[in-house]
Amino acid sequence: MTTRWVAAVALVAVCSLPLVGSALRGDPPPRCAADGVVLASDPRVRVELDAGATHGFCCVSCAERFLDARGAAAERVLVIDEETGAPVVADRAFFVRSRVVTEPATGDRIHVFASQRDAERHAETYRGRLLTGDERPFAQTDGDG
Ligand SMILES: [Zn+2]
Repeated sequence: MTTRWVAAVALVAVCSLPLVGSALRGDPPPRCAADGVVLASDPRVRVELDAGATHGFCCVSCAERFLDARGAAAERVLVIDEETGAPVVADRAFFVRSRVVTEPATGDRIHVFASQRDAERHAETYRGRLLTGDERPFAQTDGDG
């Protein structure tokens, strides 16, 4: 009697494992809109188009490539500050190209900061360079904003 009870409990436990697994996995993870890379956390760049659609990207280069391919200017580009994780409008962000890869899948090396001091410190530490003028990503969104 006891043995059968244990066997029944064990059977139920084994059968419910796949259900537990799928519950833990949840929804499929978000992916980069340019290359399909799975985003481990929130996207590093969010592009909002005129139509109101929002696209998330794994790195700055992917978002630029996406906009180039579309030939359309973005309504708004938000980038994530590496220091705080807070979103910043791209026009006001500081971009540093350094030796540190931001996204292994693409090899992108452009880093985003909300504060100029953080950007300069990263540039000094990792032999990078603050991007200015035409070098700045998303330069086409500058202007009458
Ligand atoms: Zn990407």
